[in-house]
Amino acid sequence: MIAPAYTSQTCSYCGFVHKLNRNSEIFKCRNCDYTLDADYNASLNILNLGLAQQSMVAGNMKGNVCL
Ligand SMILES: [Zn+2]
Repeated sequence: MIAPAYTSQTCSYCGFVHKLNRNSEIFKCRNCDYTLDADYNASLNILNLGLAQQSMVAGNMKGNVCL
């Protein structure tokens, strides 16, 4: 379970959570170096959480990126 408070600290690409991922307005993942606007990253995480709850299938955010 990821609380909404952690959405700004979670990498929307790989799911890595670290409080130092967010540096003011910029999000940079300390695991995979994915970098983007911090608020946009948080909104992507909220979207991902919503989709996961709807599908009831995804319990694993890692390795769940299919492009
Ligand atoms: Zn990452």
